[in-house]
Amino acid sequence: MYRVKNYVAPTNSIRLDKKTPCVKTSYCEECKGPDRICNTWTITEKSFPKGRIKVILINEDLGL
Ligand code: SF4
Repeated sequence: MYRVKNYVAPTNSIRLDKKTPCVKTSYCEECKGPDRICNTWTITEKSFPKGRIKVILINEDLGL
């Protein structure tokens, strides 16, 4: 969560030319405007039933 708020979201906001405060500060300022880029959090703690989730690891640099 720290990485999303203080690296990924500001970097993507800059990349997408969003009008958010993190574009200027490079860290989250919990904005509420229409250009806010981080709006949904998904946390998976466990696969239920067993085997429903597959994790694929890719040994390449694919972005942020
Ligand atoms: S909430 Fe707003 S200021 Fe914070 S990272 Fe997301 S877009 Fe940037």
